[in-house]
Amino acid sequence: MHGKDFVDSQPRTHPREVLEDAFRRFDRDRLAISFSGAEDVVLVDMASRIVGRDAPVFSLDTGRLHAETYRFLEAVRERYGIEIELLFPDAVEVERLVGAKGLFSFYRDGHGECCAIRKIQPLRRKLGELDAWITGQRQDQSVTRTELPVEQVDAAFSTPGRTVTKFNPLAHWSSEDVWAYIREYDVPYNPLHDHGMRSIGCEPCTRAIAAHQHEREGRWWWENDDDKECGLHAQNRIPAKAVA
Ligand code: SF4
Repeated sequence: MHGKDFVDSQPRTHPREVLEDAFRRFDRDRLAISFSGAEDVVLVDMASRIVGRDAPVFSLDTGRLHAETYRFLEAVRERYGIEIELLFPDAVEVERLVGAKGLFSFYRDGHGECCAIRKIQPLRRKLGELDAWITGQRQDQSVTRTELPVEQVDAAFSTPGRTVTKFNPLAHWSSEDVWAYIREYDVPYNPLHDHGMRSIGCEPCTRAIAAHQHEREGRWWWENDDDKECGLHAQNRIPAKAVA
């Protein structure tokens, strides 16, 4: 439908160059960074060095984030002097879900339904205003991300009449690369990382892990590794037949 959906001609391009390229090609009001309140803060830091306080940043406020993450979002806003647009889920949809199934239905039914309401719908609304978005995804984060390119057509949010481009500037960076950058540039980080949380999401769906565990084991730990995408990056999902 969209032709080639994989654009990765310079796979080892530095994340800063990927960002510079994105800001060169897309208008500032048609492109934005999706900031999760975790170590993807390095993208906010890099973007602020390129476009200053005009760095376009949004965050999905699911209503279930850790208190530390809310404080961190505020700290980042103040540190860089930027606006962080918070996207909220539809209140009626949340009330319907919680009324019918309670506050922790994801432990029973899987995370799909709750993520769809609290994350996907607000993101879809936002992407309706954009031509491109920028994420902090990395290949080393998950078995579902090992082929992740630095730039791709977002097959999950593009439509037959409209293409949405997704940049993943950190695709080829390791966790160690990210933390080396955070230390070198004295970038603020979410204090939950100091408490064993290497991957940070909603409070009920994130837990601390041991040093030998993979970071994604701290997310939706009651589900299979090949299903640990919340729909924001649905095209990463591994088809069932491809999973041994
Ligand atoms: S991560 Fe958990 S709490 Fe957050 S939206 Fe998904 S299922 Fe709901």
